[in-house]
Amino acid sequence: MDQTVYQKLLSPLSLEEAEGRIRKAGAALTTWYKAAARDLPWRRTKDPYAIWVSEVMLQQTRVETVIPYYRRFLSALPDIKALAEADEMQLHKLWEGLGYYSRVRNLQRAARQIMADYGGVMPQSRDALLSLCGIGSYTAGAVASIAFGERTPAVDGNVLRVVSRLLAAEGDILSPSVRKGVEALLLSQMPDDAGSFNQAVMDLGAGVCLPNGAPECAACPVCDCCLAAQRGQQLAFPVKAPKAKRRIEERTVFLIRTAAGETLLRRRPEEGLLAGLWEFPNEEGRLGREEAAALLAGRGIRPQKLQTLGKSKHIFTHLEWQMAGYLAICGDVPLQPGEVLATDRERRQAYTIPSAFDAYKQVLDSIAKEKGI
Ligand code: SF4
Repeated sequence: MDQTVYQKLLSPLSLEEAEGRIRKAGAALTTWYKAAARDLPWRRTKDPYAIWVSEVMLQQTRVETVIPYYRRFLSALPDIKALAEADEMQLHKLWEGLGYYSRVRNLQRAARQIMADYGGVMPQSRDALLSLCGIGSYTAGAVASIAFGERTPAVDGNVLRVVSRLLAAEGDILSPSVRKGVEALLLSQMPDDAGSFNQAVMDLGAGVCLPNGAPECAACPVCDCCLAAQRGQQLAFPVKAPKAKRRIEERTVFLIRTAAGETLLRRRPEEGLLAGLWEFPNEEGRLGREEAAALLAGRGIRPQKLQTLGKSKHIFTHLEWQMAGYLAICGDVPLQPGEVLATDRERRQAYTIPSAFDAYKQVLDSIAKEKGI
């Protein structure tokens, strides 16, 4: 590999020493994987579609959480054509609770691209996979190596952590140049069985070389290749530059309910945060009672009862919503474009409301329970 690219990793090892360690670790990891691989549903198939779905679900989500979603998704949408043709509401329902809904929207966009440009057959190389919507370097590497046997790395946070410990590398693992260096190093030294190697590093990162707290070096198959362990400095790696502070946004959420037990839902815009999902109407800012009543009156809603609800908080990657809410019981509720009135049953079964609003969904569920709906 290129010396200049390698230097970005900031390892005390020379390029030749680093290559030697990665080569040795690669051989040890593939042997370990054959003996100790976790038995996961997506490892029992070579179907590239199923492997792709699993990799997308596993981004930012734990394996144990993903397994039932994966089974449900594949049984409802067993192939690329079914995904491409799926109704949006069904798609959101299948994803409800996993979060990061843009993942499933991109999954469908890519399925439509495959139908249009590849005759419904998943493209087989990393480069072709990279041309699909929502597929980045990690997913392209994972699918190309596991499903098609291409000798290519799949570098995610787990892999960056393991490599930075093996090489005691002080480069910031969040920086693109370090990621590029790790990809190049792995590509030059990884074994031919790239699918097993990539999955072995995933397993090592998930169960042995842990992200929080001390890694379990005594059980690690690559302990004798690991410079951080040899120096007793495992917790000093990986090095990450501090993230920008999360922005805090106060919001006021309205549960607007008719006497007949319907609730007003509003569809979010097609682009941006929680795109296309349903929500309870909410406004930026912490509105007092009078301001809340005035805002409702401004759009023709005059509640017979306006009750203050508890506070709730939801954390997105770069943003934190601090919410307070009101329950407004009304007679007439005039609808604006993009709004519906839904019964409790319809709300639960047909409309996907993101988990950011869980506290307020629970308020409605307890009212429904009290009334025996
Ligand atoms: Fe991680 Fe420890 Fe293994 Fe090094 S020896 S790779 S720190 S688990």
